[in-house]
Amino acid sequence: MKTVICPGSFDPVTKGHMDIIERASKLFDKVIVAVLNNASKHPCFTIEERIGLLRETTGHLSNVEISTFDGLLVDFAKLRGASAVVKGLRAVTDFEYEFQMSMINKKLCPEIETIFLNTSQEYMYLSSSVVKQIARAGGDISMFVPEEIRDKIVDRLLNM
Ligand code: ADP
Repeated sequence: MKTVICPGSFDPVTKGHMDIIERASKLFDKVIVAVLNNASKHPCFTIEERIGLLRETTGHLSNVEISTFDGLLVDFAKLRGASAVVKGLRAVTDFEYEFQMSMINKKLCPEIETIFLNTSQEYMYLSSSVVKQIARAGGDISMFVPEEIRDKIVDRLLNM
């Protein structure tokens, strides 16, 4: 049974995140989406909101579980019996930071691998920050977030 972790802030979840989660769910037996609970990153959406949005968008994926963690990712991965961390790579700009993190995680916990999935071409420009900027400016975010959570995201961002 191969369990992997897909970690991130998911503030909020986008179609780019969903693409990585769905592809990971086809490759592995179990995918734990781990929402980073770190107040120092000042997320817009609370941890409960981010988990709720992810539960709504991953309900159709029977081998995907939503969880939260603080502290070290490798400790969480070990605790949950995961063998790898799966991360999406958008561009070369993501690579340097992700490469450094994967080396550090390997030092901290050699038995946990980091696996990179390339972004799908249509999402390579997409990030949670872009979604927040567009929604706050009154733009249409339908192309960027799953349909079923679009209105919740817009309402929340316009009423902050
Ligand atoms: P963001 O940079 O959007 O705030 P997160 O910190 O929530 O993203 O990222 C969680 C994971 O999802 C990371 O591995 C990140 O590289 C990946 N990811 C985010 N957006 C995309 C995308 N458009 N395509 C591929 N992977 C993505």
